[in-house]
Amino acid sequence: MLPHSHIALTLLAFDLARRRFPQLNRLDVRLIALATSAPDLVDKPLAALYFYRRFKAAMLFAHTLLAQLLVIWITVTKMPQHWPYAVAFLLHGLEDRLWLFRDTFWWPLHGWRFHVWRKQGSEQREIQSAYWHAFTRRPELWVWEVLGLLALVAFVLRNQLYQPTRLWQLLRSGKLADLKNSSSSSASYKIGHV
Ligand SMILES: [Zn+2]
Repeated sequence: MLPHSHIALTLLAFDLARRRFPQLNRLDVRLIALATSAPDLVDKPLAALYFYRRFKAAMLFAHTLLAQLLVIWITVTKMPQHWPYAVAFLLHGLEDRLWLFRDTFWWPLHGWRFHVWRKQGSEQREIQSAYWHAFTRRPELWVWEVLGLLALVAFVLRNQLYQPTRLWQLLRSGKLADLKNSSSSSASYKIGHV
């Protein structure tokens, strides 16, 4: 899944959850986007630098069950108030369906190897070429990206981010407009400052 799809799906999930958990209005969505991108921000450069060329592996340490448990443990013991950012990190794994990539998911219980990329395109020497070949030759992969795109559209519409002032406000403050109440229309949004 490409980075913008991860960000869009996670942001939409948090936006929907705000109706149930009003305290989520205080979140900085820029940090949510960063947290849900973190596994790829850690692993993809490592893959590009070494692991893909050497082992044909692109899902590494930050995609392991060990990393997920570590994030949960650190959050619970050191910074419980930041639990939404941990959830954003964990949602990345859910969206990637990590459990399907057993060597990476269970690392190092299945040995020190990571999941080997066996998709069409893995014969490419460079990881960029492998991604390009995989995405241009395997339309089934587009399903997830289309879902990401739909999530992005829904997020933009729900928060009226097609209005430049609202988009600028979000980029500047990281805060979504508060929901006055769950039954109100989008016209009753107001900008929330915490
Ligand atoms: Zn990933």
